[in-house]
Amino acid sequence: KLRNGHEPEFLQAVEEVAETVIPYIVKHDIYYGKNILLRMVEPERLISFRISWVDDSGEIQVNRGYRIQMNSAIGPYKGGLRFHPTVNASILKFLAFEQVFKNSLTTLPMGGGKGGSDFDPKGKSDNEIMRFCHAFMSELFRHIGPNTDVPAGDIGVGAREIGFLFGMYKKLRNEFTGVLTGKGLSWGGSLIRPEATGYGTVYFAESMLNTKNDSVEGKTVVISGSGNVAQYAAEKVIQLGGKVATLSDSSGYIFDEEGIDEAKLKFVMELKNVKRGRINEYVNKYPNSKFVSGKTPWEVPCDIALPCATQNELNESSAKLLLENGCICVSEGANMPSTKGAISAFHNAKILFAPGKASNAGGVATSGLEMSQNSLRISWTREEVDDRLKGIMKNIHDACIEYGTEDDGYINYVKGANIAGFVKVADAMLAQGIV
Ligand code: NDP
Repeated sequence: KLRNGHEPEFLQAVEEVAETVIPYIVKHDIYYGKNILLRMVEPERLISFRISWVDDSGEIQVNRGYRIQMNSAIGPYKGGLRFHPTVNASILKFLAFEQVFKNSLTTLPMGGGKGGSDFDPKGKSDNEIMRFCHAFMSELFRHIGPNTDVPAGDIGVGAREIGFLFGMYKKLRNEFTGVLTGKGLSWGGSLIRPEATGYGTVYFAESMLNTKNDSVEGKTVVISGSGNVAQYAAEKVIQLGGKVATLSDSSGYIFDEEGIDEAKLKFVMELKNVKRGRINEYVNKYPNSKFVSGKTPWEVPCDIALPCATQNELNESSAKLLLENGCICVSEGANMPSTKGAISAFHNAKILFAPGKASNAGGVATSGLEMSQNSLRISWTREEVDDRLKGIMKNIHDACIEYGTEDDGYINYVKGANIAGFVKVADAMLAQGIV
């Protein structure tokens, strides 16, 4: 706290882990007295750099870029890049810290990292995005590599940005390697990578519901966000026979009582990914729906809630509203979308609650599969990748049960994910000595 008191998001993420992991450390001699958590909360390396670029009007713009190389005990640093005006060291450190545990949970050999910039992609032309990405990579390239650090996308960084970033890396290094994941299919990308985070979040919800002999089929599902994760979470819910009632962006949410079906979702994907429009345009196309400005969708009655937008978007009062309205399952697609108060409310009500580091791990897991395919120089089929993704999500669920089942039988997925993620990284750090 003394060292990181000015970084609220990072402290929030660390406290959540510490509360569940410290009691475990105290009971296990191999970890006790080694200051292992103290070592884990300090990034191995934090890189901050200037990005200068020229906008369409010829003016020089300056942004700040970061890469947090958090932990490389079990593999090269791995984690996304976020372009959003709110990006700062605290947010990226919380994301990098969570990433270490998440990547460990996938059982693939990946360390944890995260990066990005306070650059705001909204309203920028394709050319401005390209110039910014090229400027960003002209510094980042010296810190990353297929065996060192392999970035991917996150908020504001999708297929278009990964393309521009990869182009500049390849030019500067004069090599074609799997240095980024989320690449296009014709140049090293993996099938199912765009879908993986959203699909995985719903697979995890399905596994949780299965423990109660229940399933997604026939359930009303409220989703926040309308970006990559939200879109494919919605697609999987529809495929499994659930009804998607909402989507949102930072200006508000749309509520479609009839349900957002495949055709309507296709419209949303075109609107967000190609036209780069706003979610409120949905009501112009589907007038039976409504747009609620400036609010989050948690006030809409549902069985399942999937927060897929951003951190701390679901607070304690929203959690209580969800519970009052009968919500039985929350699976986080975003990173740390529920506040501490919201998580306590879910736990007190003993509903099914999955923290992002478990439920949204499908994205980075499939990035890990993309790295494997790049190293082998082969491409697996859609079915092969999806089967592996399903298997990984099931294994993460099993690990949460192993480490998170309470005496009364309630599965505390937060505790389970934190301890299962911790054990593998801690064991590797201990084996490698004090470095
Ligand atoms: P996108 O940029 O594709 O979409 C982000 C969505 O969230 C947009 O609808 C955006 O609305 C909304 N949003 C962003 N910031 C805010 C905010 N402050 N308040 C309200 N809404 C907001 O990002 P992704 O879908 O990739 O990422 C969403 C979440 O999932 C993030 O937490 C990310 O870290 C996490 N995640 C993503 C993975 C991936 O593979 N992409 C993997 C694992 C986790 P608007 O357009 O108005 O900003």
